[in-house]
Amino acid sequence: MEKKTVLPGDKIAVSEEFFPGQNTYEFQGTIRSLSMGVVDVDKKAREIRVNPTVKPKTIEVGDYVIGQVESVQQNTANVKIYYLNDRFVANSFSGILFMKNSMKKPWEGSLVKLGDIVRCRVVSKANSLIHLSMEDRKSGVLFALCSRCGKKLQPAGNRAKCVECGNIEHRKFAEDFVLFENLKP
Ligand SMILES: [Zn+2]
Repeated sequence: MEKKTVLPGDKIAVSEEFFPGQNTYEFQGTIRSLSMGVVDVDKKAREIRVNPTVKPKTIEVGDYVIGQVESVQQNTANVKIYYLNDRFVANSFSGILFMKNSMKKPWEGSLVKLGDIVRCRVVSKANSLIHLSMEDRKSGVLFALCSRCGKKLQPAGNRAKCVECGNIEHRKFAEDFVLFENLKP
């Protein structure tokens, strides 16, 4: 297989062919990339992974990160961070998104869902944890797939609509959500 460069959200294989390795995730029968990097296949282990190119850097309060929601609890979500100030980090690390600190007004429903690609601002490093917030307009969901059918969500006002099945979903979207249209599944 040729060395292939991919973007976050790019489909790199189907689940029947390979196991998802580093910097990939599985979504409805496909394996997709979590970062920009080069696809790497381990034929023996039948594993496919993505090797990012940029080395890690120290994270500071006020930095912006982009990552993927890896779990959602009632008041927090864990975000696996892959970009720091729009640069890819080779060794990903996790931050905690605090939902209550992320909205000025009361908010109905979830701000994020599992698998979403989100941009957050680092607001604290207390207790050796990376505290994240989505309060400002720049922060929020950048890319999301329909939780009903797995197709890409398109912006529709302050909500998003599935291009395939018409399902309307709520998230806290970043103001430039529409610009991320080319992150195709
Ligand atoms: Zn759908």
